[in-house]
Amino acid sequence: MIKLSQIKKSYGRQEVLHGIDLTVGKGDVVAILGPSGSGKTTLLRCINYLERPSDGEITIDGFTVHCKRPTKADIHHLRKKSAMVFQQYNLFRHKTALENVMEGLVVVHKLPKEQARLRSVELLEKVGLGDKLDAYPSQLSGGQQQRVGIARALALGPKVILFDEPTSSLDPELVGEVLSVIRKIAKEGITMIIVTHEMSFAQDVASHVVFMDNGTIVEQGKPSELFQSPKEERTKQFLKRFA
Ligand code: ATP
Repeated sequence: MIKLSQIKKSYGRQEVLHGIDLTVGKGDVVAILGPSGSGKTTLLRCINYLERPSDGEITIDGFTVHCKRPTKADIHHLRKKSAMVFQQYNLFRHKTALENVMEGLVVVHKLPKEQARLRSVELLEKVGLGDKLDAYPSQLSGGQQQRVGIARALALGPKVILFDEPTSSLDPELVGEVLSVIRKIAKEGITMIIVTHEMSFAQDVASHVVFMDNGTIVEQGKPSELFQSPKEERTKQFLKRFA
């Protein structure tokens, strides 16, 4: 479903991803863990070309982009296959919750407005915001804004949703409501890749866990394997901090 082969990324002379290989199956929920600066966010952003990889290949749903010389059409086509949920929500401030979710359906999918509205209401209800359709982001809590972000990602009907530390901007009391929405959509079989520092959530929701350090994947496996019996010293040291 998703295959990353030898993905590299440099900023100037500094290589921050050193040739990442990763395969994600349909319906998998992959959690990416690792210390600050290990390259988790950069890898996630490379998958939908918010960052341009320096080298390697990305395949999503049978479509492959060769990152050394992609065409604009390649990038456009690849981007349509994923949707990102950002740490800082990235909602349009001057649009309501409903308009934020409708935007992608109308602009990207060219759906007639009434159809887009009905679908968006459904998705906002799904994330528990059926009573906040007309609220602007400034009138919503961080947790509610992030749930609008999730509804917006779902609206695009992506092959994979990419979550970049979706709860790290939230006050602790708001983390639970966002995690439970992610948990709910994970159960519906949507493929997800989640960069997170929430260890218990990763352990609970992920079907596959990846531990990164210093621009490489150090170790990966089922949550039960990686959390209970990590093989690599670096993984053991990292997990100790959360014990
Ligand atoms: P965190 O958990 O703190 O978000 P991370 O594992 O997501 O960290 P990245 O944000 O991917 O790490 O950063 C990986 C490396 O790339 C770091 O050394 C960082 O300083 C560097 N880096 C990231 N973005 C840029 C940029 N735009 N320009 C230069 N260097 C960058």
